[in-house]
Amino acid sequence: MSGTKIIFNVKNQQNTIKVPNIENIKFNDIKNCVICKSRNIQLLSELKGSLQTSQCLECSHMFHSKKPKESWYRKWYSKNWDTKKKMTQSKKTLKQTLIENLLVGKPAIQGDNIGNFSSNYIKKGMKVLDIGCGNGDRLHHFKKFGADVYGIEASNHRANIARNKGINVKNIQVNELDKQTFNTKFDFIYASHVLEHVYYIEEFFQSMKKVLKTEGFFSIAVPNQNHDYLLANFLYALHIHFFSPKSLIKICIMNDLIPFKVFNEHQTVIFGQYKPKDIPKNFIKQISETYNTKIYNHQEILENIFETTKLEEINKRIIWSNNKKKDFGFYSTFKNASGQRNVFEILKISKLKKSILFLEENNSNSTKFWVR
Ligand SMILES: [Zn+2]
Repeated sequence: MSGTKIIFNVKNQQNTIKVPNIENIKFNDIKNCVICKSRNIQLLSELKGSLQTSQCLECSHMFHSKKPKESWYRKWYSKNWDTKKKMTQSKKTLKQTLIENLLVGKPAIQGDNIGNFSSNYIKKGMKVLDIGCGNGDRLHHFKKFGADVYGIEASNHRANIARNKGINVKNIQVNELDKQTFNTKFDFIYASHVLEHVYYIEEFFQSMKKVLKTEGFFSIAVPNQNHDYLLANFLYALHIHFFSPKSLIKICIMNDLIPFKVFNEHQTVIFGQYKPKDIPKNFIKQISETYNTKIYNHQEILENIFETTKLEEINKRIIWSNNKKKDFGFYSTFKNASGQRNVFEILKISKLKKSILFLEENNSNSTKFWVR
């Protein structure tokens, strides 16, 4: 089956912001897989004059193979990523406060694998670093276990909120992190939903290894490619990487970060140890082969987005949002649906010789990708 070209309008965007002046943004093209360096990559999607998304046929990693230059991202995270208005803290309900206080020293979020699992490893006096600590919520919990907590955070505003919780936070980017940052090394390093935003993935691991003790523990969480709604990935500039469990395991092992527990759900979470002493024979081979590689072809992309591969059956509107009652990234396709969420209205659909999804925005005079 050949590819598909879709010309669309966007009617509503509730969870997303458009970028003004896209004509002034310079893009970078990536020819090699950012994980395994293979040149064996296939283009999945192209947004006219903007983002391209490709997948590595060797390690299954998906990533924006055409993306704005790094300087654009830096500016975005320091200036536009959040504003005081958006980040005003919502009032906690009595129930939330009770749960938090009753569960001091225990993970306070039900079904929270990171909290549950970390609680087995975090001991009193342990030095814990959160890379991209945001408002410091997680470190605040780790502190209740008796950990000595530190964070780095690119947004000055968020860093300040975390400082107000008594956390030692530096307002720096991950590539600036080294032994001098806190004049110490760490027993546990944690990074949740950070890595998919990182421009140069190697810099993240280089920095992490500078400050993680040998045999220190780590936890990395990212969205799970195999549970993603692909259309959102194709339009969303801030997530540069879409990890599969396999590609995340691979990059960890390449950096001597050996996974001993992998949660493969709506997000992928890896727990492990840096240069552990006694790795059982064949362990690395086994864990590398545990997760199947899912390589998308054009039919699977159409099925993921439209639940059909037949062009004549593809409905006219797609509505999606983050719905509390459904899994993250819930979406639905409707004919003539109304709604105040993200509405993507298809104006024209046609066959393409190239086997990719080619997206062309009809009515935009300012932007061709979304950021939030
Ligand atoms: Zn690869």
